[in-house]
Amino acid sequence: MPKGSNTICKFCGQEKNLIKAHIIPKKFYLGIKEDKCLCINSKTGEYIIQQQGGYDSNILCGDCDNHIIGEFDKEGYRILFGDFSKYKYIQLHPQYRIYQLDNTKFDYEKLRRFFISILWRASISKLEEWSNINLGGYEKKAFEILKGKRTYDELFKILIYKNCYSEDINQEVLIAKGKTRTFKKYLIQMAGYRIEIIVDSSRLTKKYKQQYEKYFLNQTFAHIIETPEVSQRINKEHNTRMFELYEKGFVPPKPPGI
Ligand SMILES: [Zn+2]
Repeated sequence: MPKGSNTICKFCGQEKNLIKAHIIPKKFYLGIKEDKCLCINSKTGEYIIQQQGGYDSNILCGDCDNHIIGEFDKEGYRILFGDFSKYKYIQLHPQYRIYQLDNTKFDYEKLRRFFISILWRASISKLEEWSNINLGGYEKKAFEILKGKRTYDELFKILIYKNCYSEDINQEVLIAKGKTRTFKKYLIQMAGYRIEIIVDSSRLTKKYKQQYEKYFLNQTFAHIIETPEVSQRINKEHNTRMFELYEKGFVPPKPPGI
């Protein structure tokens, strides 16, 4: 790799010393041991051992990573690792809760940008393990959102699912591309969460909108859907719904035989 040719920070556009920037913030790697961690290659679906939980040394300077994107990460961490016993929720079933945080409890702009920034980081990364994550024409739009230049309210609709069990499976980290018949979405799995990001909500079917729209992260509420389904979806490779959702691109991997 030619050194010196990659010194332009992708966020501020300035020539700077670039640092080891994590695609998924390190705190969301629960299984990190001796700075190594088990991750899933977004392209091949195979397990890989990542050093330091998967960073890219060619994308961001320290100022941008720590002080701008780092602020989004902090909000993500604060909400997702918050004290759930204090969150209000609706109990639909003994194992099925929908936590509802109102906007006095979370910062919409930061939390939204936290999730979008993970996708953006994976998209701009040239590392092989993220090569399947490419926002294409939406990359620039994501960037404008992160910079606070535009909001693009119809883009990057976010659903937050949480595994209701504490299991080893929560150590798995991945970003995957999903595709349904009508719209494109991405999946971020980390620390027992399964975040679905619908790239362009104008492509959603009416039925889907009716069912899920109220749970999209919005300026009034953040919903966190806690359900055993998340665990089941992660676990069951041949789950038919999984195949319907990710019929192209993503096949849930088997755990390695170690
Ligand atoms: Zn920078």
